[in-house]
Amino acid sequence: MLCGLARAAALRFRAPCARWSGSRAGVPAHVVDLRSDTVTRPGPAMRRAMAEAVVGDDDFGEDPTVRELQEKAAQLLGVEQTLFVPTNTMANLICVMGHCRRRGSQLLLGQECHLHVYEQGGVAQVHLLAQSHGARVHLDGARLMNAAVALRVPPARIVEHCDSVSFCLSKGLGAPVGALVGGPKDFIEEAWRLRKALGGGMRQAGVLAAAALVGLAEAEEVLPRDHENARRFAKGLQALASPICSVDPAAVETNMVLVKVEGLPPAELCQRLQSVSSDEVARTGRAVSVLLFPWTEQSVRAVWHRDISAQDTELALRKWEFVLRQLGP
Ligand SMILES: *Cc1c(COP(=O)(O)O)cnc(C)c1O
Repeated sequence: MLCGLARAAALRFRAPCARWSGSRAGVPAHVVDLRSDTVTRPGPAMRRAMAEAVVGDDDFGEDPTVRELQEKAAQLLGVEQTLFVPTNTMANLICVMGHCRRRGSQLLLGQECHLHVYEQGGVAQVHLLAQSHGARVHLDGARLMNAAVALRVPPARIVEHCDSVSFCLSKGLGAPVGALVGGPKDFIEEAWRLRKALGGGMRQAGVLAAAALVGLAEAEEVLPRDHENARRFAKGLQALASPICSVDPAAVETNMVLVKVEGLPPAELCQRLQSVSSDEVARTGRAVSVLLFPWTEQSVRAVWHRDISAQDTELALRKWEFVLRQLGP
């Protein structure tokens, strides 16, 4: 089995992520949280849908809202059936277990899932290769919707040549919990048994599926906006022409911006962007705390999502400018 699992990012969620948090300068700071697209919180429409969801026991297949989500997602992904599971990690695990049922089965992992997701021909080629060796292809489609929006193709087009797919609902789509496994009917029947064995069977899960349905319905509006904000930020940062931080706006395809950092450790840059000094308040009249993660030894990663507005993006850029000036020659 061939599998496009992404390099597992060691995410270190340590900073408090209140929208407003106290700052050393004694005024509340406006927090722009760019650590990950998993930090979104359900808004009023999503919470209303959750409160009003019609539910049943999903372990008996009796939750109408989960069934609606599974059917809508199957259409979207162009697969026979999908199964709602708690996390994308479990979705991937179920697929691996479903494909590699014989002891001694081999699992080949790609170094970068981007190969499969972003290069349209890639999956088809891997599938040709895979078939000739009797292998199956699983697509880790955690951010499949972002890829589809960026490529301007229906998600089903990306999934077309895969034997199974996972799909995360709690990243850019903004649901609090959930992922889906997609594939042929018999594969999903097996996936259902595996989910149960792994302790992933849920009861009145319609409360969660309702949030995911809202996320899916809003994706076409939200994701292009996230991508646009990310691109605008990259262009703005490039325009600062800093010797410390550089970025290639042309490389920003989706909601992520990788910023190359030279001359100081990325962790220190993150610390400076997060903290608020009285100097900042005095000079800019603002207190903005930008949260993000060091990505490699020489880069930081910023991720856009539905809770980051165009104005937040501008505030993050101005904070960045302030920090770079402080560090500047
Ligand atoms: C986030 C992610 C996962 C894990 O998803 P969870 O829902 O956090 O378990 C797996 N694969 C990829 C590519 C991801 O981005």
